[in-house]
Amino acid sequence: MTTTTLSEALSAARQSYASKNPNSLKAYERATESLPGGGTRSSIFIHPFPLFIERGEGSEIIDVDGHRYLDFVSDFTSGIYGKTNPVLKKAIIEGLDNGLQLGAHTLPESSLSSILCSRFPSMDLVRFANSGTEANILAISTGLHYTGRKKVVVFEGGYHGSVLSHFGEDVGDLKVPYDFVVCPYNDITGTELMIRKYAEEVGVIIVEPMIGAGGCIPGDPEFLQSLRDLSTEIGAVLIFDEVQTARLSTGGRQKILGITPDMTTVGKFFGGGFAFGAFGGKKEIMNLFDARQPNSISHGGTFNNSPLTMIAGLTAVRHILTEENLRKLNELGDSLRKNLNKVFDDEKLPFKMTGLGSINQLHYTSPTQKREGLDLFFFHLLDRGYWIAQRGLVSLNFAMTENEVKGFNDAVVEAARGVKNSL
Ligand code: PMP
Repeated sequence: MTTTTLSEALSAARQSYASKNPNSLKAYERATESLPGGGTRSSIFIHPFPLFIERGEGSEIIDVDGHRYLDFVSDFTSGIYGKTNPVLKKAIIEGLDNGLQLGAHTLPESSLSSILCSRFPSMDLVRFANSGTEANILAISTGLHYTGRKKVVVFEGGYHGSVLSHFGEDVGDLKVPYDFVVCPYNDITGTELMIRKYAEEVGVIIVEPMIGAGGCIPGDPEFLQSLRDLSTEIGAVLIFDEVQTARLSTGGRQKILGITPDMTTVGKFFGGGFAFGAFGGKKEIMNLFDARQPNSISHGGTFNNSPLTMIAGLTAVRHILTEENLRKLNELGDSLRKNLNKVFDDEKLPFKMTGLGSINQLHYTSPTQKREGLDLFFFHLLDRGYWIAQRGLVSLNFAMTENEVKGFNDAVVEAARGVKNSL
């Protein structure tokens, strides 16, 4: 590389990317005619333009210019099954023969709910929805209704869905108009101070056991326990958003830590590849939805129990999201993170990986040009045939082999050296 500064190196990498991906560029330009910015999901946008993916096979994706990439995004943790899982495929095809939409109660729905309740210590009862966002809105609204209070405690860097993010920031502000109190994550004293200030008004405290989209920052067990204690003391409903962390064990991070919230939300992979969300919790809270009771809360949703989603989700929890499979996948992620951080330290490379188990994030640690450093690293990895989220998320899936993860490890080190060399 003849360029000397990070900005120059990045600009060269972008030009090279554009010249290698003419079909994606064409597809993108066409998309901008009917989709603002050419897309419909902000989190997957890539600067200067995104790759258009034609199909996936096993752990690979293939773009419209014919490049193959090993996919270490895994659809932001939800694509845990890889691209083509034979067990799921068979169940979904059989499900298709059974009727696309039935508009009635079905047996797979109660089987799936029963397994979720048996897995998550906090879930006596559960209801289904269509996304993690929706599950969180429903859980928060339920908690406020149950307590008769108005304020919702959330945390800096937290992400609970497209209309439940960017707390304390003004960007892209389409937040659901709850009365939020934004507290500092992993700061017991600061959080306690804020919560006590509004103690009698706080109806809900919602927290990710590990900040996910905000950078894979694990919650300190003492911090999460302090939220448990504080919620009990002030009479607020504590919700763990385990939409991502549910895959850290069969019962999410709550099971690992032995901390039981009042309610839990999940989503993503529990739909077996289809749109899904669920919120569950203590009997006395969830019984509000019991239609046998007078004045019960009505909670509709055409696709809440979509037969294909129920069948795919049930097949996934029965046959794929087993204790053994999850343990192996998370161990693979733990050792990847440990190995990479050791090399970063040994070679003084300006990178760090944070996370838990199979959900991790690469950070560019230099105090300046953070965005540029990570972008350049992203293009270096693409050149080597590896696909991560441009913001640094690395999420493993069951289709990956140990060798593929080892290859990724080596590619990350080379890409990090490449960034360091252009400083
Ligand atoms: N909560 C967390 C912790 C998430 O990571 C996400 C999605 N990234 C959501 C909620 C929202 O889920 P969905 O995209 O299915 O609405």
